[in-house]
Amino acid sequence: MVSAAIGLAFLPLLLTLIIRYRYYFVLFYRAVLLRVWHDCRSGLSREERAYQYVLTHATPGDPESILNAFDAWCSKVEYISNIGPKKGMILDRLLMEQSPLTVLELGAHCGYSTVRIARALPLGARLYSVEMDQKNAAIAEKILRLAGFDDDTVELIVQPSDEVIPQLRSDYGIERLDFVFMDHWKKCYRPDLQMLEGSGLLGKGSMIVADNVLFPGAPKFLRHIRKSGLYEWKIHQAMLEYSRGIRDGMAELVYMGVN
Ligand code: MG
Repeated sequence: MVSAAIGLAFLPLLLTLIIRYRYYFVLFYRAVLLRVWHDCRSGLSREERAYQYVLTHATPGDPESILNAFDAWCSKVEYISNIGPKKGMILDRLLMEQSPLTVLELGAHCGYSTVRIARALPLGARLYSVEMDQKNAAIAEKILRLAGFDDDTVELIVQPSDEVIPQLRSDYGIERLDFVFMDHWKKCYRPDLQMLEGSGLLGKGSMIVADNVLFPGAPKFLRHIRKSGLYEWKIHQAMLEYSRGIRDGMAELVYMGVN
């Protein structure tokens, strides 16, 4: 009787927590529980399942239809942390305004943002996309070919970002990065940005866009850009991809350093 009474006393608190954090519960269910269930059931990885869906729902050679198929799968079937359509439109606009010739993407995952960036580039531009996970990179490669992009437009580099950045000048002949998109491990944002600063590849006006700086969040990265004085910057407030109630943000930095 006593334990039931204690349980009842905590019920309002429990209900309040469930209501307050309902979007996080939904995210946990979709990104973790549902994923484990489908992994066991299908024998395929989540990324392979997404690829199968895109393959059967998108038109080859049409990047827009590939992005739409990804968005449909991530909204209605399972969850993958692509940049998504809303933040993606901000990225599209920034790419259109900057018209960059040399772009670096850190974290291709299964190629959604890679396609998104590649389709917005001007003629003659080149995208270097870095993905450390070999299986995800293999799917990104297939997605890029499905979208119709060849090696001249997108070079997929399968290696950890902290190994690739020091080699960009010597191994890939890059003199300057006009645009960098970060969407890999959040803990890598700050060290990778500092490595880019030290590489001399950022020039005055180079733009860096970093996703998910508020959720899951990259506080050390934000502290660095505040303190370094090397950037003009702002955060585009937006909801987390494929979520209606989790606040996130995408950082836009313009390098104002000495190069
Ligand atoms: Mg992201």
